[in-house]
Amino acid sequence: MPRATTPQTLAREITISGHGLHGARPSSVRLVPAVKPTGLVFKHLGSGVEIPVSSDFAGDIQLATTLVKDGVRLQTIEHLLSALVGLEVEHLLIEIEGEGTDIELPILDGSARPWMEAILEAGVRGLDGTRRFIKVLRPVEVERGGKHIRVSPYDGLRVRYTIDFAVTSLGRQSREMTITPEKYRAEVGAARTFCLEQEIEWMRSNGLALGGSLDNAVVYGAEGPLNESLRFHDEAVRHKILDLLGDIALLGAPLLGLIEAHAAGHALHVDLVKALLAERSAWTWAEATEAAIPHAKTPALFRPTLVAST
Ligand SMILES: [Zn+2]
Repeated sequence: MPRATTPQTLAREITISGHGLHGARPSSVRLVPAVKPTGLVFKHLGSGVEIPVSSDFAGDIQLATTLVKDGVRLQTIEHLLSALVGLEVEHLLIEIEGEGTDIELPILDGSARPWMEAILEAGVRGLDGTRRFIKVLRPVEVERGGKHIRVSPYDGLRVRYTIDFAVTSLGRQSREMTITPEKYRAEVGAARTFCLEQEIEWMRSNGLALGGSLDNAVVYGAEGPLNESLRFHDEAVRHKILDLLGDIALLGAPLLGLIEAHAAGHALHVDLVKALLAERSAWTWAEATEAAIPHAKTPALFRPTLVAST
């Protein structure tokens, strides 16, 4: 799949249901194709409240990314958003159904794979108009207590992520990659969420991870993962990249830049989004031009040339 030059939506709608990771309550998500470029917008069916995917509506973020508006709270949106960012689907109405106004999206298998497979099966469709990117012009950095994250100019979307845990079975993992739909599909989307065995008791006593099990998370014990097998030898750092891609959906447009993250998490990812958007001279709008995608098969040529727009 080449990098899209037109705004993209789904070719047909998708419905996925399941239970949440933390509260374990059921919810249902319906992805409805957009007819014109609108960005990604959640709609809570019970109240009719619509929440655009934007850092303006980011709520309390600790273990999951949350959007809040007009009394509606949507939690653990990052894996769905990651699949959408990874596969370049940037315009969609996302209808949410569940009990009450505080809803957690289905955790499914703990990765973005079920979302990704459903999106690939439904197919992607181009809309009229030009795809617009947020193009980074100079570095922006956020640092907090030894954790840091930085975005700098890059002609594409590239991520370098490092995690470093004291637990030896997890330890230090680092990975760097340029994100394309093919790369996302093969190397990122299937990586499952993870936690340390020693955190579980604390999480459960705080009402968290009540829906968690070895079916939807990798659990690292002192000797190694408690799961029978891993999907990647460095599945944990790949999941951090998956989460980061979901969180940068809160920019409201695709990004052209290199993100370097060390020991970061949802809160720092979203802080970077806010810091970049607030630093207006650090980025510009850029458009992917049709003429810039040659009909050659060389993968490098699939990257469109970007022109600054006014
Ligand atoms: Zn995650």
